[in-house]
Amino acid sequence: MSADLCAVMAENIARVQQRVERACERAGRAPTQVAVVAVSKTRTIAEIVAAYRCGLRHFGENRIEEAETKIPAVRGMLGPEPATWHMVGHLQGRKARRAVELVDTIDSVDTMSLAVRLERLAAEREVRLPVLLEVNVSGELAKSGFPAWDEESRSQLCRDLAALEGLAHISVRGLMTMAPLVQDAESVRHIFRATHELAAMLRGCLPFSTWDELSMGMTNDYVVAIEEGATMVRIGRAIFEPQS
Ligand SMILES: *Cc1c(COP(=O)(O)O)cnc(C)c1O
Repeated sequence: MSADLCAVMAENIARVQQRVERACERAGRAPTQVAVVAVSKTRTIAEIVAAYRCGLRHFGENRIEEAETKIPAVRGMLGPEPATWHMVGHLQGRKARRAVELVDTIDSVDTMSLAVRLERLAAEREVRLPVLLEVNVSGELAKSGFPAWDEESRSQLCRDLAALEGLAHISVRGLMTMAPLVQDAESVRHIFRATHELAAMLRGCLPFSTWDELSMGMTNDYVVAIEEGATMVRIGRAIFEPQS
């Protein structure tokens, strides 16, 4: 990796961290409440290690095939240093086994059948796998996620979540959402707000649940997502690409 790349990345990460801090300040939240997940899909092992050296500890991949070659290589280079790997993209059931063997958390569980399959796989390995449920609060686009755009789908989600809470090998830590890619981040604020409200509603129907993670916001809209309560932002381009 060139010294240039390293300098660009250090600058990018400092800028992201500063914007995260300012957004937290505006929202009256502590910056420690927001984790930056560096979405490292398509990036090289050298780029990922550089991001680690610049202070990032959470990484996200969206394709199993790519993750299978990169994650062990990065782990090999970092040795015992701690990095947490997130699966953030749609996961097909037939690839679930490979995902469970590879990553630390699956942030994009989008159906009950995937959740149940992960439970079985985690049980085989005798681990408790943290997961987030991907939700679709807008219904605007044909994207993945548990439907949660009306009263009926939200009640169904409540029942599903209650069933998942009874499983011993997956641990639902919160929700994840993908907003449509737009130029003006303000135009997706309502999606982040609705996801936050959904999390509060679900907590209401599961009074003993302790989950509190909200993974929302990407390069274009993470500041708005933090203002609306994100506890994890998934950032690719703003970390790995030169910014104008
Ligand atoms: C690529 C990706 C991101 C990051 O997108 P950027 O616009 O590069 O920040 C976040 N979440 C998921 C699920 C992705 O696939």
